[in-house]
Amino acid sequence: MRFGAHLSIGRGWSALARTARAEGMESVQAFSRSPRGGKAKAIEPADAAAMQRELEEGGIRPLIIHVPYFVNLATANPQAREYTVETLALDVVRASELGSPYVVTHLGSAPGDRGEALNRAASAIALVLDASARTSPVSRPVILLLENSGGGGGDVGSRLEELAYVLTSLGRGGAGRLGLCLDTCHAFVAGYDLAAEGGPERFVDEVDRLIGLDRVKAFHLNDSQGRLGSSFDRHAAIGQGYLGTGVFAALNATPDFAETPGILETPEEGRLADLAALKALRG
Ligand SMILES: [Zn+2]
Repeated sequence: MRFGAHLSIGRGWSALARTARAEGMESVQAFSRSPRGGKAKAIEPADAAAMQRELEEGGIRPLIIHVPYFVNLATANPQAREYTVETLALDVVRASELGSPYVVTHLGSAPGDRGEALNRAASAIALVLDASARTSPVSRPVILLLENSGGGGGDVGSRLEELAYVLTSLGRGGAGRLGLCLDTCHAFVAGYDLAAEGGPERFVDEVDRLIGLDRVKAFHLNDSQGRLGSSFDRHAAIGQGYLGTGVFAALNATPDFAETPGILETPEEGRLADLAALKALRG
């Protein structure tokens, strides 16, 4: 696995790459814009080029773009849906400008029937892929990664069956454009016992059976402040939550994930220690 962390873009893209390199990251993730909303700042081509040089020299790959939290693919509100599709399509274009192969998004939440919420999410994703295919000039398509949720507050996409449903809803057209980003904390609070003996292996087997390991393009490696099945989505530093470190060692040792990025989204002040803890699991 290629270990890295989520970094903020406060001082620009090349500064982000210098930080990732200075801290010994092997992959990195960032929001492409302020996660709190507002208009996205244009990407300076010189800044993006300097970042790409720095990442390449540091052997850091890939850069993953995470969409802002206010997007909601499952919403039944027409305005929110339109805003979500626009925002995601633009983030796919921004990712290609930045040389990033992956854009990570949650499916979002909605009250009421989960099946209908999943259908709305699937059709919104089809719109995003259409719009980004029209506006993105690149030959190498950016892959949209669906992240599993913790399942609280009407969040859909907490069960692997739900993610499989959306991933296959676009038929073969979606195969090269849609993948999966698995968050260990979210899976655990959604009820997958990654802390149990053999738990990580059973989870990986189920992902393989329902979706296929080749669709897993990234992991979010977070320990959990919430208990198993609690739907309480709060990340903990590595080894300081209910997950323990066994799951990270098991995923890292899975041959299918040898080159898969594993991104920390743990509290920033512990980032260096968390990265060191993950690397130590390699023995
Ligand atoms: Zn995550």
